[in-house]
Amino acid sequence: MFFIAGINRKREQLDYYEPIMCSACTKYGRFEAYVEYSVLSLFFIPIFRFGKKYYARTTCCNSLYLITNKEKGLMMERGQGHNVFLKDEDLMLIQKGFSGRTCPNCYNQVSQEHNYCPNCGTKL
Ligand SMILES: [Zn+2]
Ligand SMILES: [Zn+2]
Repeated sequence: MFFIAGINRKREQLDYYEPIMCSACTKYGRFEAYVEYSVLSLFFIPIFRFGKKYYARTTCCNSLYLITNKEKGLMMERGQGHNVFLKDEDLMLIQKGFSGRTCPNCYNQVSQEHNYCPNCGTKL
């Protein structure tokens, strides 16, 4: 007898757009949230979901956070995102984004306040 089983990783955008003052780049931006989960399917029929994780991403600099408060993630997933406010303790920074510029000469990442690349001195 054949078993055709597969695991797919899925991602869904959540209904959540929270304006924030970004702690990574200190600009005003928005949080966008999405959920990722794995689906086990047998004979191409999804059987169950597992390994669900909620993420928030800032629109200003693409910083990525894991939403550690699953209750809030679940509320967003149920379309109650307008009742959710993410606090610092609900979030774990995974990847700090970058909103500055890239030096055209040496590809060093330079923050906005510099007019010259600190690495090679090229004017930006
Ligand atoms: Zn930012
Ligand atoms: Zn440079």
